[in-house]
Amino acid sequence: MLSDLLRAELATEGIRVAAPVSREGGAGPTGDAHVVIDGWTAALPVSMESRFSLKDGKLWLENEDLGVNATPIARPRFYDELSSDGIPMHKLARLHGAGVLATTVVQSCVRYSPDQRCRYCSIEESLATSGTTRVKTPAQLAEVARAAVELDGVRQMVMTTGTAASSDRGARYLARCAAAVSTAQPGLPIQLQCEPPSDLAVLSTLRRAGAASIGIHVESFDDAVRSRWLPGKAQVPIEEYWRAWEKAVEVFGWNRVSTYLLVGLGEDPEALVQGAARLIEMGVYPFVVPVRPGKNTLAAKDGLRPPSSQYLASVSLRVQHLLEAAGMDAAGQSAGCAACGACSTLGASELRAAVAVSVGSPKQKTTPASHPLALGIQRSLG
Ligand code: SF4
Repeated sequence: MLSDLLRAELATEGIRVAAPVSREGGAGPTGDAHVVIDGWTAALPVSMESRFSLKDGKLWLENEDLGVNATPIARPRFYDELSSDGIPMHKLARLHGAGVLATTVVQSCVRYSPDQRCRYCSIEESLATSGTTRVKTPAQLAEVARAAVELDGVRQMVMTTGTAASSDRGARYLARCAAAVSTAQPGLPIQLQCEPPSDLAVLSTLRRAGAASIGIHVESFDDAVRSRWLPGKAQVPIEEYWRAWEKAVEVFGWNRVSTYLLVGLGEDPEALVQGAARLIEMGVYPFVVPVRPGKNTLAAKDGLRPPSSQYLASVSLRVQHLLEAAGMDAAGQSAGCAACGACSTLGASELRAAVAVSVGSPKQKTTPASHPLALGIQRSLG
């Protein structure tokens, strides 16, 4: 089994690969290739400077074959289909991981001015290259969902949106899209993602539209981080998020609500872990994700780099322990980023055990325990 130690290194350092399924821009923290490494479906940063590469169906560390099966995810067949109004389906939704259909229903954001946008986000950049359309209609999404299920066996769908100027912040349009998809594909679990709507009754509308789960992404509990890296979203007080999560758990149920918590923005790790503990206590899954700014982002221009693998591993381990103690697991989300897991190192088995195995078992083919990164993680897990 792939060690969690190695997963943290791959998630932060990235990989040299030309992958058929990848994304260079879009909402949120992006810039990745989608691969399967020893059964782990991962969205990893593409980096020509990485020591890791894929060759001959194996994962390599510099010139060493790590003995781990690794393959890029194949281009899905629905990418070559057209919607009935003539739009290539790959412009309407994308495959994430091996079985997740993901779309941004409105590819623009009221917060996209350079002084307001989340600095790691590039939601409008793919419009400039005609890689997507500004607004996906409910009918188009229903067609894509049907094609992706029938041709490629997609198992769940994620719909996100740029933030709208209206008080629902785009949630009502998400509800229309979800209703169309759930009518066309009744068994397909759907997660919707939006900012906290000011009228929380909208959350019931989203549930009735067929959403199985919801992501309301705070990104960070650290006010200094929020002001620096997500100045527009930081204008929404944290208290609004707590109110929205509480209502969302009431509407969607325990472990059917999630939020991104980004690692690597200079946050206080204690605040992150304490916030995660409070979220878990109320039934919300804290999806811990390393920030890895895509090349077209302001954050990349600012020189923001991914966090160290040691730091990511230690924070992920602490949150993973809290999740395990609460009996909360990602599969319970049914749909969404936490259920997918490709962008995170959460959900892995025990990091500390992985370090011990990498030291003690000759069968565990992974980064050598004497490697400086491995030693660093052992120290940080202490
Ligand atoms: S975790 Fe979310 S953003 Fe990442 S690949 Fe999966 S669905 Fe896409």
